[in-house]
Amino acid sequence: QAKSRGRNGYQFYSRDMDGEGVERLRMEALLRRAIERQEIFLHYQPQVEIDSGRLIGVEALVRWHNPELGQVSPVRFIPMAEDTGFINQIGEWVLFEACRQMVRWDEAGLVVPKMAVNLSVRQVERGAMAPLVSRALAATNLAPRRLQLEVTESVIMNTGDALAFVHELHAIGVGLAIDDFGTGYSSLAYLKQLPVDVLKIDRSFIKDIAVDSDDEAIAIAIIQLGKSMHLSVIAEGVENEEQAAFLLRHGCTRAQGYLYGRPVAPGVLLEEWGNEKNERHEHAGRETGT
Ligand code: C2E
Ligand code: MG
Ligand code: MG
Ligand code: MG
Repeated sequence: QAKSRGRNGYQFYSRDMDGEGVERLRMEALLRRAIERQEIFLHYQPQVEIDSGRLIGVEALVRWHNPELGQVSPVRFIPMAEDTGFINQIGEWVLFEACRQMVRWDEAGLVVPKMAVNLSVRQVERGAMAPLVSRALAATNLAPRRLQLEVTESVIMNTGDALAFVHELHAIGVGLAIDDFGTGYSSLAYLKQLPVDVLKIDRSFIKDIAVDSDDEAIAIAIIQLGKSMHLSVIAEGVENEEQAAFLLRHGCTRAQGYLYGRPVAPGVLLEEWGNEKNERHEHAGRETGT
């Protein structure tokens, strides 16, 4: 009897699903308390001008370290936070913390020109984002031009009132970058209407530069598109000199990636980039300082 039940594929299947479901519920419950328990924090990755190696900004990247689960990747918990709606609390915390950090660096003598903060679709579609941005800037006294929000093409295309949202941001004076550009389905005609400042070439097109001529062609096309639309273009995921040289040769002067630095704790960024110690290649160490 027991044996025949054991062979029943459906029972095995449903038991596995239960296990996964329980695990997910547990993680969701832990995530809900993550902010109050101070398990959520930010790391910052440098963005540089390729030829001079000068620091032009940083991107804030959220981190979650839970005593039971260990380090959980944002690729895993951000979608979960979006499903549960908890992304709004996380997103608000990230925005305020990123602005506060800019002020702390200013006070410590490191002026980071720009802070880039990622937004997810759930935050934008609520329609509460522009007032939140204004509050974060007012609370920290950060100049609007020093904040840049990153959204993917799918955020733009899936937000009913994206046009209004983007114009509100523009009116406040904060910048807008299209993240992972080239991987989504945004219409160029639509994009043209938006006051976008920056296109970020997705890492997937940078990865195989010098290996895959299709990827090279796409990277070049995005650089050209940015030029003709008067947008600034930055490449993400730049890991080696060959990629950097290729980008420079084709007119992309800005980059972000392990070649210039991993995402690091604020104190580490201060150590590495404070005191005008901006030589290149000294910043490609491992992600440290949790
Ligand atoms: P993203 O916004 O495209 O961020 C870039 C990701 O690429 C980061 O992963 C970064 O650590 C990684 N990266 C940077 N340079 C290199 C490189 O040279 N090589 C490789 N292999 N990877 C590189 P991370 O930190 O795991 O974040 C993953 C994604 O999670 C982000 O992609 C973003 O979509 C999301 N995310 C992170 N923080 C936030 C946040 O505060 N809010 C929201 N809504 N999403 C966030
Ligand atoms: Mg990003
Ligand atoms: Mg990106
Ligand atoms: Mg990406």
